[in-house]
Amino acid sequence: PVVLGIESSCDETGAGLVRGGRLLGQALASSMDEHARYGGVVPEIAARAHLHALGPVVRAALTDAGLGLRDIGAVAVTTGPGLSGALQTGVAAAKSYAYALGVPLYGVHHLAGHVAADTLEHGPLPDPCVVLVVSGGHTSLLLVTDLAREPVVHLGDTVDDAAGECFDKVARVLGLPYPGGPAIDSAAREGDPRAIGFPRPMTGPRVDPYAFSFSGLKTAAARWAERHPDGHVPDAAASLQEAVADVLTAKAVAACRAHGVGTLVVVGGVAANSRVRALAEERCAAAGVALRVPGRALCTDNGAMIAAVGDLLVRAGADPAPPDVSIDPSAPLHHAALTPRTAVT
Ligand code: ATP
Ligand code: MG
Ligand code: FE
Repeated sequence: PVVLGIESSCDETGAGLVRGGRLLGQALASSMDEHARYGGVVPEIAARAHLHALGPVVRAALTDAGLGLRDIGAVAVTTGPGLSGALQTGVAAAKSYAYALGVPLYGVHHLAGHVAADTLEHGPLPDPCVVLVVSGGHTSLLLVTDLAREPVVHLGDTVDDAAGECFDKVARVLGLPYPGGPAIDSAAREGDPRAIGFPRPMTGPRVDPYAFSFSGLKTAAARWAERHPDGHVPDAAASLQEAVADVLTAKAVAACRAHGVGTLVVVGGVAANSRVRALAEERCAAAGVALRVPGRALCTDNGAMIAAVGDLLVRAGADPAPPDVSIDPSAPLHHAALTPRTAVT
């Protein structure tokens, strides 16, 4: 069947259509510009924007695929993690489509979506593979076997901030525009990555080899900005980006080596970063590890990735979500399917 995927966990409203591992069409709307003046996502604005965008985005995805509503055979929706009001609008829309069309509904974990995004470009994931999920709210090193059937093993996670959060917050103190990650990426092009020796947190002999920490780096960058009010911002951006890319790729490649895994997959918004991509390529080549990174548009939030998980679940014969499926704004990733139920009070 054709699976309609709906994503609305943050400020992107996404719809995608996938069948048999193939992306048939997609559409995306973003309320990013509405949040820019506040310097970060405002939950109420995001939820209202989803409400307005969901119908048009689903129709645009169908048009993109050359399909009609009647062609949809299943619906998949992000049930968490994310902003609760934002998630709720997407889940309400997905339930309506599924009920009206008489097709099954699947609840999907947003991070499983980021992982599955890569399959739309590079085909089925090799079993096993190490996946570095690096996004606005998460930074995790995973051992993935069969995404639709098996639990995901966490090799390590961030103990504080996510890498994307670090980019976003440091961009603010450097006076770079919102959203910070892409702004740091472009400012870094004019800077010297060796100009400032920012720390490489959670590296060295006595720390968890696969855990991450980015809040100290954020503080170090803020302190640098305070001490150098007229400092060269591109140098700071390049040096910070180098520190983040260095830690991320070193740990990811080390995890592949230690587990004898031949493929590293890097996904999530920060996988769009130029230096993360280049350094991952360099280090994987040196270690004899195959690297898979989806194109930039598939790294950041989108509906296609949620449809991709739905398609995997359908083909694995997974049970659809119960009709009272709810949201879980802070669900950790254990399974690709996430189907919390409404609490009865
Ligand atoms: P999560 O997936 O953890 O719930 P999210 O959905 O908000 O969070 P994504 O959409 O996956 O996050 O990614 C957004 C993050 O990626 C932001 O922190 C953004 O700054 C960062 N990002 C996007 N492009 C780049 C880039 N080129 N360089 C660095 N960071 C980037
Ligand atoms: Mg976003
Ligand atoms: Fe995301």
